[in-house]
Amino acid sequence: LNRRLAEFGTTIFAEMSALAVSTGSINLGQGFPDTDGPEEIREAAVRALRDGRGNQYPPGPGVPELRAAVAAHQLRRYGLTYDPDTEVLVTAGATEAIAAALLALVEPDDEVIALEPYYDSYAACVAMAGGTRVPVTLRPHTEGGAAFRLDLDELRAAVTGRTRLLLINTPHNPTGTVLTREELTAIAELAVERDLLVVTDEVYEHLVFDDAEHIPLATLPGMRERTVTIGSAGKTFSFTGWKVGWVTAAPKLITAVRSAKQFLTYVSSGPFQYAVAEALALPDAYFDAFRADHQRKRDLLGDGLRAAGFEVYRPQGTYFITTDIAPFGEKDAYAFCRVLPERCGVVAVPNSVFYDDPDAGRSQVRFAFCKKDEVLTEATSRLQRLV
Ligand code: PMP
Ligand code: GLN
Repeated sequence: LNRRLAEFGTTIFAEMSALAVSTGSINLGQGFPDTDGPEEIREAAVRALRDGRGNQYPPGPGVPELRAAVAAHQLRRYGLTYDPDTEVLVTAGATEAIAAALLALVEPDDEVIALEPYYDSYAACVAMAGGTRVPVTLRPHTEGGAAFRLDLDELRAAVTGRTRLLLINTPHNPTGTVLTREELTAIAELAVERDLLVVTDEVYEHLVFDDAEHIPLATLPGMRERTVTIGSAGKTFSFTGWKVGWVTAAPKLITAVRSAKQFLTYVSSGPFQYAVAEALALPDAYFDAFRADHQRKRDLLGDGLRAAGFEVYRPQGTYFITTDIAPFGEKDAYAFCRVLPERCGVVAVPNSVFYDDPDAGRSQVRFAFCKKDEVLTEATSRLQRLV
């Protein structure tokens, strides 16, 4: 393994999912649903396969039907106008979108600011691009609103003459924080003032709870032309195995991201692209039910974890709950997660691996709630054995 990747071993998601399989535990670690997305969309994929749509290389930027559907979705939900031919790119999941955006836009030695704790591929992709990551840490708060907050002064202070790009993620994995209009406005002002590009990972755009609202960064003044926005059918339609993601951005940025993408995968997921085009056109009722269902699951798991003795940071979005294991007298999340399956047959993920300084998240453990109610109930009753 070369020096750029030397610090990145196996991803924590693979490690913990393997542990779930080898111990026969309930897997609340890796974020994937245990119920597949809508039947009619699965049927649409079957139809595409049967009719011979997408069985050979689809067009480089993605099939026209899906690019049109992505543009229509951004317009319908957020009032954002994108030209499907020049401002939309289909990718192999959001993972490839992140990689291609960073490989295309970061020069060696550029600094990339990312909100910490960060999704693990951000650090690896910044490294592969030869850049330097600069974390800005979201910190726990006890008053209302987000359980983890961005300190805007810290963000401003992190920008240097070498900063190229801000890598934003809202709703935020793993903390569940949804950035507010005030925070996003401050980010936008900073980006404009310091002439920074922004890559914004909005894969959990449809998973926001209570009165939190997802506001795409590209809707803020001065941002449309400097923002690369990333979405994913894996998250929005519960098809993580299909690996269909997309990017929306101004033509110059799309052209750049596409230049990298064409040498990563060239194209992917032919028939699934047609099915996802139909999914994006589902009525608002689908998105409303998806959100309400997950809000209920958040409460179910959150209550169960609290009853089992965890300190729970209530998420405003995503399908993850971050907890603290200090009440158990435990300090090391990684060690805790390694023995959790043996102790009670449940798998979770240590947030410490999402920090540059693992001490910062030493006692945080993340649980996914995109699971059947009975699975969540069984998991929390098993976790009661910990006390
Ligand atoms: N970004 C974030 C914040 C994620 O949590 C995930 C997946 N869990 C991804 C990107 C990757 O999405 P995809 O599966 O579409 O590649
Ligand atoms: N994004 C998912 C999570 O945070 C996992 C995706 C993966 O395994 N790469 O759990």
